[in-house]
Amino acid sequence: MNLFKPMNINKESDKKSENLNSNIEKVKCLIIGSGPAGYTAAIYAARANMAPVMIQGMEPGGQLTTTTEVENFPGYPQGITGPAMMEDLKAQAERFGTDVRWGEATKVDFSNRPFKVVVDDKEQIEADVVIIATGATAKYLGLESEQKFHGSGVSACATCDGFFYKGKEVAVVGGGDSAIEEATYLAGLCKKVYIVVRKDYFRASKAMQNRAFNTPNIEVLFGHTPTEVTGDNVVTGLTMIKNQGKPDEHEVKIKIDGFFLGIGHTPNSQIFKEFLELDEVGYVKTIPGTSKTNVDGVFACGDVQDSIYRQAITAAGSGCMAALDAERFLGSLGAH
Ligand code: NDP
Repeated sequence: MNLFKPMNINKESDKKSENLNSNIEKVKCLIIGSGPAGYTAAIYAARANMAPVMIQGMEPGGQLTTTTEVENFPGYPQGITGPAMMEDLKAQAERFGTDVRWGEATKVDFSNRPFKVVVDDKEQIEADVVIIATGATAKYLGLESEQKFHGSGVSACATCDGFFYKGKEVAVVGGGDSAIEEATYLAGLCKKVYIVVRKDYFRASKAMQNRAFNTPNIEVLFGHTPTEVTGDNVVTGLTMIKNQGKPDEHEVKIKIDGFFLGIGHTPNSQIFKEFLELDEVGYVKTIPGTSKTNVDGVFACGDVQDSIYRQAITAAGSGCMAALDAERFLGSLGAH
């Protein structure tokens, strides 16, 4: 059922419409997504009496729940696991009254205020302001072995997990700017970094390519397609096919301690695309220096609008901005 479709004017549909309307919940501030950006927005919004309701999304806690140790978030001198940190953020948001709910926002209508959001294809919520914090999802190759070692030898975030591979040998897969950026970061920590590129050339910018070629402990393996991450309890190697589909196709194995994905991220912005301006990759466009989108009253924070920094702390900072922008917006309407 399309919950946003106007209903025909007849007695039967009037009745349905009444029923549907009576089920519509009205809230002041709706936050979609529960990573560091969403929870920080919730903490600020709750403390500002905006009574935020948070729809957690498909992966409560966001990408950090798939990370083991987080050592670069200020305030945790001994480090903390990703899931534990997200539990702390949730508890902090709830302490000030955030209503955190299971469920996924499946449809939105931002054409008029109050904004309409459908949760799990059934419940409809109307909100005076919406804060989007739906994050981005790292792309994986889809290998079974990648899943097996996920979080213990396989990572999609060099800045988060590179430290654990100090002095070791690692591989980064991908031929774009992300892969080279991850590889050069890792090269500062690791003994050796392989960049595994499926084609015979990089897609990355010339400047980034030069960085890769000029870093002595980076070796670029062009024309290599990973087929298996190997090891027993920990990652010990990578199996690849060289020149796949060509007459000289053959298997190549290298020894590595860690395998990093650098094949890009997908911002979780699909359901907003009808209403919000997105960039060519799908990131929500915000007015620089703010969390404002092209729709007044809809704000975006965290990785769904950030293709550059993508850190928990930058996401948290932008979540704070979104709550402050939302509060000011409500104030300007006299609704707060
Ligand atoms: P890109 O889409 O630019 O590159 C993805 C890379 O991953 C390509 O080389 C692609 O190979 C490869 N790839 C994709 N799927 C697979 C697969 N299944 N197996 C093997 N390889 C695969 O993504 P990026 O994240 O690198 O960049 C996204 C955008 O962000 C770009 O515009 C980039 O310029 C920008 N960016 C800029 C940075 C900077 O300037 N510092 C840093 C990071 C990103 P193929 O080429 O064969 O398709």
